[in-house]
Amino acid sequence: MRNAVIIVAGGKGLRMGGYIPKQFMVVGGLPILMHTIKRFHEWDADACIVVVLPESQQQYWQELCQEYKFDIRHTIATGGKERFHSVKNGLAAVPVECELIGVHDGVRPYVSTEVIERCYDAARRFGAAIPVTPVVETLRHLGPDGRSMTVPRADYRLVQTPQVFRTDILRRAYEQEFTTAFTDDASVVEAMGEEVCLVEGNRENIKITTPADLR
Ligand code: C5P
Repeated sequence: MRNAVIIVAGGKGLRMGGYIPKQFMVVGGLPILMHTIKRFHEWDADACIVVVLPESQQQYWQELCQEYKFDIRHTIATGGKERFHSVKNGLAAVPVECELIGVHDGVRPYVSTEVIERCYDAARRFGAAIPVTPVVETLRHLGPDGRSMTVPRADYRLVQTPQVFRTDILRRAYEQEFTTAFTDDASVVEAMGEEVCLVEGNRENIKITTPADLR
């Protein structure tokens, strides 16, 4: 059974405030996106890797690959208006023989290979799996009247990627019309009535979003 992963880096990444999109920033001697790709390659050297990038960044990415002598094979797809459209473009580039497809944020380089394996294993058995972690801070709900109240944090989970699905489920889900409620792949799949299995994520698997995350 061949595994595939779509690594989405199709956003402009402007919240970091700098000139270089966050997925290209160098951490530990290597651009973040290369660390992310390496994690999946270390887990399964035969995995089919699709990287989604905005058209305007693809030339720069090729130059970076040469500069860093980065030789892990991957296919490039073009980013869309929303993450949803980027994933859809990535899906079109996944070979038909792949039976499980994961979708992972390009700016999550610290996913562990154990978590990757756990997600693909659960998706193989249950059809759809996502990694989550407990909420460790106290959580408050903001009401429409401007008041707020503490809610039981044990009732909530923080959601990470890779979100992994059997191919037929993910392809069918992405045939749906886009709505703003689709903030990740699980929400797209659930809108079709599918259930999603939660597996344990790793806390270091942060989405690098702000300069503080980068540090
Ligand atoms: O915007 P957000 O932080 O939720 O983005 C999560 C991931 O989705 C990032 O890796 C980003 O590059 C990707 N994305 C994308 N295409 C977009 C918007 C976001 O691939 N149009």
